[in-house]
Amino acid sequence: MAIIRDIMPAFELFQPATVGDALGLLDQHGSDAWVLAGGLDSFDWLKDRIKRPKVVIDLSQVSELRGVKEVNGGLEIGAMTTLTEVVRNPIVKAKFGILAQGAELAASPQIRNQGTLGGNVSQDARCWYYRAGWPCYRAGGNICYADTPVGRNREHAILHADRCVAVNPSDSAPALIALDAKFVVQTPKGERVVDAEDYFVGPEVDITRMNILQPGHLLTAIRIPSTWAGTQFYFEKIRDRNVWDFPLMNVASAMILSGDTIQNMRIAVNAAAARPLRLKAVEQAVRGQSRSDATGEMAGKLAVQGAVPLQFNAYKIPLMRNLVKRAISGVREAAWAS
Ligand SMILES: Cc1cc2nc3c(=O)[nH]c(=O)nc-3n(C[C@H](O)[C@H](O)[C@H](O)COP(=O)(O)OP(=O)(O)OC[C@H]3O[C@@H](n4cnc5c(N)ncnc54)[C@H](O)[C@@H]3O)c2cc1C
Ligand code: SF4
Repeated sequence: MAIIRDIMPAFELFQPATVGDALGLLDQHGSDAWVLAGGLDSFDWLKDRIKRPKVVIDLSQVSELRGVKEVNGGLEIGAMTTLTEVVRNPIVKAKFGILAQGAELAASPQIRNQGTLGGNVSQDARCWYYRAGWPCYRAGGNICYADTPVGRNREHAILHADRCVAVNPSDSAPALIALDAKFVVQTPKGERVVDAEDYFVGPEVDITRMNILQPGHLLTAIRIPSTWAGTQFYFEKIRDRNVWDFPLMNVASAMILSGDTIQNMRIAVNAAAARPLRLKAVEQAVRGQSRSDATGEMAGKLAVQGAVPLQFNAYKIPLMRNLVKRAISGVREAAWAS
């Protein structure tokens, strides 16, 4: 008889109304608890019975986790703010356009109406094997099914792989790194504020998670400083279909120009590795250079140094080189426009 997978196994559901109550519940239930935001990633796991938490803590009633506030010329965005709210916010659009672009290119309108910014940066890997419940390294086993001569690894990593070759699929994450955002995490020991790039971890740090959150932790807000407001932005996402599709790769950058000369820049790519990558070597190499094709070419080559393709994803190396090149030169080739 077929296994029916659309009914979730029972769990105890809590719907706290304040951050304090949510933290109390997380503290009480530790690793038995699952944080539920928009549910787009969570419900897949629960319905497929691959993750079986005893307790689910639904954040949808915690109004203090929602909304976009202007703070010192920058922004504080509550973790439960939906992607649609982020995309439509006039200040995000006017001053931090790459975040609006990244969020708008994620998934589909229905998913963006429900999916939250906190969930988008905290979502798990989309590797076929892992999502189907295969007992791979990331699931606590001792094999990677994707990194084999016949494994389905077209979407997988070209950089920083360590046993697991899955990638981080978030479209908002590289934009937040380029904007030098800070992630606010509440822990049992108090508040911790980390740079966006340090929120994410690769398999060499912890193969079973994609970010620093441990049981009992809650991401409450993302702060964007005014530093990069209104600078020259570039965001591009490459995907197989133009809607409802995860990135094969994306790039986000913020640049300060003096005439044609690049004074300062931040640039990040995602879906190249298990964590979004800030390209610090590129940032340093382009500082003081003219914004030109030649500088873009140089930066693109630098960005892919050390890249190692799998059986079916060698195309990601020229893809990343060209995305970085276009982010630097500012020229988007029509053929690639998404
Ligand atoms: C069909 C489909 C296509 C998609 N395409 C894209 C795409 O192209 N690009 C893209 O970027 N995303 C894409 N997504 C992801 C989607 O945009 C959501 O952002 C994502 O599923 C998670 O957001 P959520 O609010 O639903 O979080 P949930 O699914 O509820 O949570 C996701 C994870 O984060 C944890 N979590 C959530 N919030 C917090 C918090 N505040 N503190 C601690 N932990 C937390 C949860 O415990 C869970 O592990 C897609 C999703 C689907 C289903
Ligand atoms: S790439 Fe990672 S998630 Fe996918 S099968 Fe290998 S170990 Fe598992």
